[in-house]
Amino acid sequence: MVAFILAIANQKGGVGKTTTAVNLAASLAKKGKRVLVVDLDPQGNATMGSGINKGNIKHGVYHVLLGEHSVKEVLLKSPTGEFDVLAANRNLAGAEIELVQEIAREMRLKSALDEVKEQYDFIILDCPPSLTLLTLNGLVAADGVIVPMVCEYYALEGLSDLVSTLRKIRQTINPKVDILGVLKTMFDARSNLAQDVAKQLESHFSKELFETDIPRNVRLAEAPSHGMPALVYDAHAKGAIAYLSLADEVIKRVQQKQKSK
Ligand code: ATP
Ligand code: MG
Repeated sequence: MVAFILAIANQKGGVGKTTTAVNLAASLAKKGKRVLVVDLDPQGNATMGSGINKGNIKHGVYHVLLGEHSVKEVLLKSPTGEFDVLAANRNLAGAEIELVQEIAREMRLKSALDEVKEQYDFIILDCPPSLTLLTLNGLVAADGVIVPMVCEYYALEGLSDLVSTLRKIRQTINPKVDILGVLKTMFDARSNLAQDVAKQLESHFSKELFETDIPRNVRLAEAPSHGMPALVYDAHAKGAIAYLSLADEVIKRVQQKQKSK
């Protein structure tokens, strides 16, 4: 069995991509899955949230994308979650600029991950809030995409860009990539606006929308400042429990996808 590569993407900022990457990784690991998190964001939030100080990393995804190191050489273990991490810090912003001149620049991550695909059940890619070369590397490497969304007024704006980028990638380099699921994050069921937008989402993405939604939960926001997934910081937190339930849904959908192949 080779790893299912899952990109967490939405070019809108602050919608819960990193929170989802780290907490889904911890939840899948808790269920016995072997997981690697790849931090594709120069902000390094997934790195920090996994308990790794981004200021101290010598080598990370930056060196992998530029072909200077293999994934195996730069892998780190999260000291708090039961998963591995390919770390990032702001050097990665430089990699994005240098990559522009390289051959097969959108394929770099995909090729690099081939080396470790058999070591994991899931490889989770935390994409930055943009549709530039780093995200493109993520989408080209991915088997499926999770799109976190906050149920606010402009939630759907920009989504068509992501959908059309995915379509182009499918038509050219990676025919299998598709949206695995759309995830409502920071969801407040008491808010009328959130309910309205949730209804819109259901009509646009009836097939894709996960049954699980992630509630707004202060523990999810506090955990990264302790370098921990919420599951480790407070296992009883509503947010941590929601991500465990998301992990079940993800496992089920991936199994279905693999069966239908
Ligand atoms: P960026 O686009 O900058 O990478 P992002 O999409 O990765 O952002 P996060 O960093 O995961 O988003 O979340 C944005 C902020 O909201 C963070 O401070 C995070 O701790 C907080 N947050 C995320 N999900 C929740 C939640 N369910 N409940 C409460 N706070 C949350
Ligand atoms: Mg992020």
